[in-house]
Amino acid sequence: MTKCPSCDSNMKKEKKEIEPGVFAQVEICSKCKDDWIDEKEYSRLYKLFRRKAFKVGGSIAIRIPKEISDAIPIHDGDEVSFKVSKGKIIIEPT
Ligand SMILES: [Zn+2]
Repeated sequence: MTKCPSCDSNMKKEKKEIEPGVFAQVEICSKCKDDWIDEKEYSRLYKLFRRKAFKVGGSIAIRIPKEISDAIPIHDGDEVSFKVSKGKIIIEPT
């Protein structure tokens, strides 16, 4: 069993909802209740939330990972609407 880096108590593995519908594998300390994430899971989440934009004809496309589209949810063929607000694009199922 892994020990807490702060207080050396035992930690247990749990799934934590980091965004609505998106879960991360974390280890939670039984004493100080801090949660820790290992390098592999951090790397997985980093890749999950970063995508490269690419050209499709005259448009720019971005792939939405299934884990994120399932959380909203958006399915193949669904219509979505988007709005641009303060440098961000917000996508919503219609
Ligand atoms: Zn602790």
